[in-house]
Formats: sequence, C-alpha cells, structure tokens
Amino acid sequence: MTKQEILDTIELRQSTLTTWSACALMYKFRHIDKLEPAFRYPGTIHGSALHLVLSWLHAGQWKGDLRALYTKALNYYLYASDESHIPVRWKRDMVKEIEALKVNAVEILENYRSKAYNKEALVLFSEVPFRVKMPRGYRFTGTIDQVRKNPDGTIELLDFKSSKQRPNRYAIPNDLQLSLYVDAIKRGELLVDGMWVKPNMLVDFAGIYFLRAHEVYKRKVPGKEIGQEKSSPFMRTTKTIQDLRVFRTEIRHQLSAMVKPWYYPNTASCAFCTYSTHCISRNDNLPEKQANQAQELLAQLNMA
Ligand code: SF4
Repeated sequence: MTKQEILDTIELRQSTLTTWSACALMYKFRHIDKLEPAFRYPGTIHGSALHLVLSWLHAGQWKGDLRALYTKALNYYLYASDESHIPVRWKRDMVKEIEALKVNAVEILENYRSKAYNKEALVLFSEVPFRVKMPRGYRFTGTIDQVRKNPDGTIELLDFKSSKQRPNRYAIPNDLQLSLYVDAIKRGELLVDGMWVKPNMLVDFAGIYFLRAHEVYKRKVPGKEIGQEKSSPFMRTTKTIQDLRVFRTEIRHQLSAMVKPWYYPNTASCAFCTYSTHCISRNDNLPEKQANQAQELLAQLNMA
C-alpha cells in the first residue's frame, strides 16, 4: 500500500495512536485491514459502561439508582452497540461474572458520587466528540471523557480509566492521548448539541481519573482499614503552549512512521491482544498476493 492509500484508509482517532503505540501490527490489523477483534474482554465492556453511567450522572441523573443505570449501560454494550456481535471472553460463568461487574460498578460509582469534588464540579463537557488539525493537514478525531470546572475555579480535563492496574504516574506527563485532548480543546473544535464550537481553552490540569481507586479494601492490609478506599483517583499533569508545540512535532514523526507499510510486531502486548488469532495466521514469508489467494482457497474449503 502506498502512503496515500494508507492515509485514505485509516481514521486518525485517539485509538489509532494508542493501538500504534501498543503494537504496529495490531494497528495494521485494526486500522488498515479493518479486521475485527476475535473477542472482547469483560473488563473493556465494564469500562465503557462505567463511562456511560458517569455521563448520565452529570447530565441530570446524579441521584439515580446506580445498579439500574449500570445494568442499562452494560446491556447496551453487551447487546446493542456496534460491537455487540463480537463474542465476549468470559473467564467463568457469565451470570456470575455479570453480577460481580454490577457489584464492582456500584462500589465505584457510590464512592465517586459521595465526593464533594465530584458533586460540586461543574461539568462543562462530557463524552464530547472533537476534531483537531495536525501538521501537514492531518485531522484527528475522538472523544474527550470530561472537562470540568473544579470548586476552586480550575479547569480540568479528565480521562476515566478502569483498568485493574493503576496507570504508571511517570508515564502521565508523556501520554500522547492526553496531549491530543488538551490540544483539541485549545486549537480544535468540540461537537456540542450538534454544533462544532471552538473553546480555545488551555486547561489548568489534564489527567487520568482512576476509577478503581474508589474500590474499598475487603481485607486488612498493613496501614489500611477494611472498607477504606484504595487511593486518590487523580493522576494529574499540566500542559503549556510550548508542551503542545512539542506534542505536535512528535505526532508528525509518529504519523510519518504510521503511513509506511512496515509493521513490526511488539510481542510485549501479545498476552492481552484481541488480534492474536489474525496474527498467528499471518505469513510474513509469502508475498501478499499469494497469501491472499491462499486465504481465499482456504475460505472456500471453510478452513480459513
Ligand atoms: S499478537 Fe502480538 S504481535 Fe500480533 S498483533 Fe497482537 S500484540 Fe501485535
């Protein structure tokens, strides 16, 4: 594929960047070949459902029944979203796992809702689509989880995370996704009530809101009590105009690499990869045309 063909095929979204950073081959499968993942993780669906409930809470349902709201959101991602036809890889009994997700969601959401800093925050944008131009005319699109005005007047951009492991705090200042969001609010446009608006706003803080920090200790551990929340959810950084300039230069370099048809596997990501079946069946030693012909023949024999 030529550089222009790759550019015409990929959609420059925040997920394109994160997939590229995880594994160039995964990026090829997902964004160039447009292959679907072989399965979905329950944890990913849980995270999407939590995001949706948080947006509902701040859009007038603050006092809503958390279990009912979460169940509605979970059912949407399980049975009604664009990806609901992709099987979920349950580890054990599905009914028991769904119940465990609901219990976990209510624990996280109840503690989120109990905090004055969340209750008193004025949410300016929630799950808001954005678009922003990058050097050489490339345009990135995506969705920002939340931008809020804190009770002390500071403006903060938050990316909600619900992975089991707390993100590495040393990686936050260099997180490309966060820089992309901050740049989008400063130089790009947001889709608000069906209209593209330019906030032209430099946020005071940008960071990750680690939702699982609201989980509570179920057993006694040194220095912590049973029932105590695990930690603070905020993992903040700041971005200056100069930081955003540096970010755009970095994006330009990343993009030049992304449009070259070389896709080096990053096996550090294989253990969690939802594209591993596509990956195992690839053959790097055959020319692409021959490999496609072989795949077609296998498909005719129901063996692909
Ligand atoms: S299995 Fe490993 S090398 Fe293959 S696409 Fe996934 S992460 Fe990349």
